Amino acid sequence: MHFQRPVLWFLPFTLILTSCAGPGSAADAICGPDSFTPNYVSNVNLKKWASLPIRVYFSTNTNTGGVNIENETRQGFDDWETALGQNLWTEVTSASTANLVVRVQSSAPQSTLAETTIYFFQGQNIITRSEMVIYTWPSLPTGGYAGTGTHELGHALGINGHSDVIADIMYFTGNATDLLTQRDLNTLRTAYCGFGVSSKTVPMPAGTPLISQKITCPAP
Ligand SMILES: [Zn+2]
Repeated sequence: MHFQRPVLWFLPFTLILTSCAGPGSAADAICGPDSFTPNYVSNVNLKKWASLPIRVYFSTNTNTGGVNIENETRQGFDDWETALGQNLWTEVTSASTANLVVRVQSSAPQSTLAETTIYFFQGQNIITRSEMVIYTWPSLPTGGYAGTGTHELGHALGINGHSDVIADIMYFTGNATDLLTQRDLNTLRTAYCGFGVSSKTVPMPAGTPLISQKITCPAP
């Protein structure tokens, strides 16, 4: 009879352990650097959203040179979806329901093409919200805004840093082709473990600091 007693004690203990999604648990796990190669995982501090698609709100509507910059940006966003075959973003009509707010602004800081800020709790991989600013440049070909949009969405989806290879769209100035490379795609696949596993929101202990990380993307 005394052999059964430990079983009764261990069972609830095991259940508590497996249902506890604390920091570093599977809920916010990012795949290993060799999961999808080639990539530049070692150059960036990968983050991720708890669920996809993220909700995007465009707070501006900017026509310049016969082109709508926000529409160019939307096309750039779609390049990730087409290349990966994943539904990564959806548009919403208010900032209050958005995960990512996008703004086009005409007065560019010196040499800055765009900047994306992601917010996450200290020590965590999960992004809680994001902001993107695309700056208009008289010298930038209007088609170039799509490539900028692709690059910035890479940041907003969790590529927290830049590739060290000039051919990649996530190189710090973008690339010449505005096309995503296998390395770009594999780096994002690593953040989401190939998109096969959906994560869930991790409850934060009270007082966990919220970190904001602004990723600035200079003009070539
Ligand atoms: Zn960048």
